[in-house]
Amino acid sequence: MSHSLPTAFRSTVVGTLRREDAGDRVRLAGWVHRRRDLGSLVFVELRDRSGRVQLSFGPDWTPADVLERARRLTGETVIAVEGLVVARPEENVNRDLPTGEIEVHVLALEVLAEAETPPIPVAYGPADELPAEELRLRYRYLDLRREELQRGLAVRHQLLQVVRRFLSAEGFWEIETPMLTRRTPEGARDYLVPSRVHPGEFYALPQSPQLYKQLLMVAGYDRYFQIARCLRDEDLRADRQPEFTQIDAEMSFVSEDDIFDVGERMIAAVWREILGIELATPFPRLTYREAMEKYGTDKPDLRFGMEFQDVTALLQEADFRLFQETKGTRARIRGVRAPGGARLSRKELDQLNDVAKAAGGSGALWVRLTEEGLAGPFARALEGELGQRFIQETGLQPGDLFVLVIGHFRTLGVVSESHLGATEDVWQVGGAEAVLDALRRHLGDRLGLRDPAVHRWAWITEFPLFEWDEEAGRLAAAHHPFTMPHPDDIAKILRYTEAGPLDRDAARALFLQGVRSRAYDAVYNGHEMASGSIRIHDPKLQRHIFRALGIGEAEAEEKFGFLLEAFRYGAPPHGGFAFGVDRLAMLLVGAGSLRDVIAFPKTTAARALFEGAPAPVGPDELEELHIAVIGRSTS
Ligand code: ASP
Repeated sequence: MSHSLPTAFRSTVVGTLRREDAGDRVRLAGWVHRRRDLGSLVFVELRDRSGRVQLSFGPDWTPADVLERARRLTGETVIAVEGLVVARPEENVNRDLPTGEIEVHVLALEVLAEAETPPIPVAYGPADELPAEELRLRYRYLDLRREELQRGLAVRHQLLQVVRRFLSAEGFWEIETPMLTRRTPEGARDYLVPSRVHPGEFYALPQSPQLYKQLLMVAGYDRYFQIARCLRDEDLRADRQPEFTQIDAEMSFVSEDDIFDVGERMIAAVWREILGIELATPFPRLTYREAMEKYGTDKPDLRFGMEFQDVTALLQEADFRLFQETKGTRARIRGVRAPGGARLSRKELDQLNDVAKAAGGSGALWVRLTEEGLAGPFARALEGELGQRFIQETGLQPGDLFVLVIGHFRTLGVVSESHLGATEDVWQVGGAEAVLDALRRHLGDRLGLRDPAVHRWAWITEFPLFEWDEEAGRLAAAHHPFTMPHPDDIAKILRYTEAGPLDRDAARALFLQGVRSRAYDAVYNGHEMASGSIRIHDPKLQRHIFRALGIGEAEAEEKFGFLLEAFRYGAPPHGGFAFGVDRLAMLLVGAGSLRDVIAFPKTTAARALFEGAPAPVGPDELEELHIAVIGRSTS
């Protein structure tokens, strides 16, 4: 939608001017984008948020003193002009500019603000390289003048508006929750804020509104959402921001289906309104186990198939040392069929080893099917009937490549390592799945199967409830401690936690039970876009989970007493989700980095560059906050 936004300084913004406006007298205001001096004529591209328009200063229509001043205009000067919209002759139409069919013949000019030469350019040609990102972040307000960043923020704005409209129409209330809070565990460290009036006490900035939104459900608010700022003090990683935004929602009296229905219709509305693309709903659903077994990852890129195939039994029949060595071990031989992959060059095939190694593996093996038969390092071991069976089982077509890795896969299977004498299904420790996942994605790229014009969303369900923290020797919540266990696995948890908090052995044994949860993610083209879960609403079960996590009664009371207390007064069954706004906006505009869709991002070292944060504070201020600093950063 385009607006003309008239104000005291202008009759319209520049970007909406069209051929139909020819003959109009307009007042415009904005920045000097570029100036070209053509002897008697001076052309200035005037820029505002809506776009650019060509101002034309000429002796036939511009007063001489104005023309003289126009010659001295420098880039980024803020000006206001008055002039006449004139249609350009056909040969002068600029097809690259939406306003390119007209120009404005300037009659009057006022300089509203001078501009020094900017330390980074604002006007770029198509071939110009951007300055280093550090420099651009240092002068963010100048970099934000670039069209590309503006587009990112425009799409982000649209995204938030579509979401607000959609959720509001679905009966969700937008409710703000506090920034100065008590800890909400989401698996990261908290940013702490010292209290001046309560010496030695600290607020935590929210890692998410998780506890508040659950309390809103206890309070009977039924459907809540918030465009929530979340703060997590995590270790630095490229493209991770210490503060980020989520579309955070919670619903009462729901099961997964209700939540998925709202979530996927919300995303479909976003795709429709912003990209003009109709997504198919409902989104497919895969359990975590299926995702791991088929794709080796909990965020599979479903734009292409290439599912993992287990060829252990078959290849153990082959006379090939690496395959023979897997006999009697837990190692599996799994691979993917890459359609058309036989065309990869020798060099590209060698690269597969590098991809495997970068993902932590020892290497990759491959075999291809040509018109002459199987070819590759172990093809000789597959001569005759065995080779025929291999081709049949894997579905290899002439021209295909089969790439495989040998190793331990994280998979649900029976082992005898267990507590309380029972032998049950357990999650086996793996690693090889990540190697094959990397190869699958690499081959997907190489074979052009990861088409940006294809949009594949899915829900991944039944995530494991626990993770194993080897160092601490205890369980950790894989999502957060308020996630409801899978109904079929509750009995296991209760059995282990009857007596109290778990010691290391018991915790490890419970981990190996492969307890599933009612947590889910939304994934899109191989990216994790949202997480959520059905929550525990029974204080007794919540206590058992705390025990499983090694949190004793006193600690649970101290940290989450208010939640447990609230649950005693009638908590409805509830659940929700949080979608990452930054990543959604980034993928919607096709930006290369989260920083391109955040107005004032931090660097990868978590610093704000132009305003300079974090920064030391003086001794008086520290004293007022009852804080003594025992070390200083040197970075
Ligand atoms: N609070 C969760 C998160 O930030 C999302 C949710 O469970 O709704 O990942």
